[in-house]
Amino acid sequence: MTEAAKPESERRKFRAIKGTRDILPPDSALWNWFEKTARSVMESFNFGEIRTPIFEETELFARAIGADTDVVAKEVFTLQARPESVQRAELLREAIHRIGDVKHELRVTRLLQHLTVFVRYLQIALQQGHLPKDAANLHNVGLLERGLKEAGQLWKSGSTQPESYWNGLFEKVKRIADDIRFESAERTSGVSELDLEPTASLRPEATASVVRAYVEHRLDTRPGDQKLYYIGPMFRRERPQKGRYRQFYQIGAEVLGTSDAPAIDAELIEMLTVLLERCQIEKYTLLINSIGCADCRPKYVELLRAELRKPEIFERLGADSKRRVETNPLRVMDSKLPEEQEIIDTKLPKISEHLCADCKTHYEKLKKELRLRAVPFTESPRLVRGLDYYMRTTFEITSPILGAQNALCGGGRYDGLVELLGGPKGIKGIGFALGEDRFIDAIQEARLGEQATKIHAVRPVDVFVAWMGERAYPTAVRLARVLRGEKHAVELPPEELKFRKALERADKMGARYVLIIGDDEIASGQLTVKRLADGKQEKIAEEAVVDYFRGAR
Ligand code: AMP
Repeated sequence: MTEAAKPESERRKFRAIKGTRDILPPDSALWNWFEKTARSVMESFNFGEIRTPIFEETELFARAIGADTDVVAKEVFTLQARPESVQRAELLREAIHRIGDVKHELRVTRLLQHLTVFVRYLQIALQQGHLPKDAANLHNVGLLERGLKEAGQLWKSGSTQPESYWNGLFEKVKRIADDIRFESAERTSGVSELDLEPTASLRPEATASVVRAYVEHRLDTRPGDQKLYYIGPMFRRERPQKGRYRQFYQIGAEVLGTSDAPAIDAELIEMLTVLLERCQIEKYTLLINSIGCADCRPKYVELLRAELRKPEIFERLGADSKRRVETNPLRVMDSKLPEEQEIIDTKLPKISEHLCADCKTHYEKLKKELRLRAVPFTESPRLVRGLDYYMRTTFEITSPILGAQNALCGGGRYDGLVELLGGPKGIKGIGFALGEDRFIDAIQEARLGEQATKIHAVRPVDVFVAWMGERAYPTAVRLARVLRGEKHAVELPPEELKFRKALERADKMGARYVLIIGDDEIASGQLTVKRLADGKQEKIAEEAVVDYFRGAR
């Protein structure tokens, strides 16, 4: 039986995919109002809109956000244009490149772990014909297999090789891994054009795309700082819950240029507070911090690590933090685990007390600039970012009216990112992204009273054209067009309605006026207008309709 022939209860119904949702009227009116307000605020600070694609090369995100972060490792939706084995192998190659400054033994274990999986995926890809079986690839995969076996045995046997041995091995693995060629396998097997593209992923955020576009279009050659904003959907495979979706919307802004003046940071934050004010969200906290730079942060990280290793502290940490003590101790600072809160707040050194002179000055100036702009802030030593190119200013805006997912917005300085993505040296950057879904919740929670209902409601139908009889219809169509041209919202019933029915429908729709056109009206050239608020009715000449409704705004 075809679907259509089945009774309705048995027909397959489709639902939006988990973690995605529809935004319907009247809610969409509030979304539009918010976007319009955000645009107008950002344009008043001289930001221009940038629109980038919603999918990009997977490697762009791996590089910009970090192959080891949750976002890239677990949450990115990768378009399956290439076989999974090849995608995984590529991600692992990037991950191997990123094994950096961790304790020696950990680095070796990591390398061996990543290499084991890397080699496994390469073998699968070769077997399934997804990797060109040419001499170079076979040779290189062979080298990696042998190297892995040898190194694994050495490591297991506990033999004490000097650090230089492992460094040498590390460099060699990276070189060989880079020489593996993923392309052209499909070319020979005749798969479609699309499969020849590098793997693409849906964007989990937009900074990587904005910086990619900045570099690609040489925006550094345009005069002055580039102040760009974007609005659009982002995609992350997270566990859906209130305030956390798999397709969600962000509005963000980035400033890219040669200056890192604290006034840039302060103005960006000020812009956010102006937006909050326009939305009448009063209950929020702006948290700020400085996470130092390539000079001072490594020393602080060592200090933090040493502190975290102390048994009286280490034993009180959860499993994730225990692991991070070695891999990325900074991230212990933003742990949400309840039993770690007291340690973090009272026992651990604060980065703000270990900044170098330049970073300290930058941070002090930022605070001064914020005070100058009457932007209240709270310093939070816990606001950190795990990636190397983040530096100095970080900030977050939270709101207690949001519940568990209380972050409205996050941002920070990323002075090394342009260079990391192949751009010119010396270009600095700072930006933020705010969660539109959460702003909308906050606006609704903040209850703007009268105004909220106004924003929230569907745009009222200004004029309901109640036409009756064939002779009235052409006039009704023409007047609807003219009034719509005047920017009134006009409802023109597609089928003739009895007078009473028309009034009822107009009333239900919340129309302000009913324009009545029947045989009498056509004959006399005098139309009837009924104001629904008080039932007042009057006659107006057909030629006077436009002026009448202009005056009725
Ligand atoms: P991030 O890019 O993770 O710094 O996030 C910036 C802002 O986007 C957060 O402060 C949230 O308001 C919002 N956000 C992040 N992830 C989600 C999600 N899965 N669903 C809804 N909003 C999100």
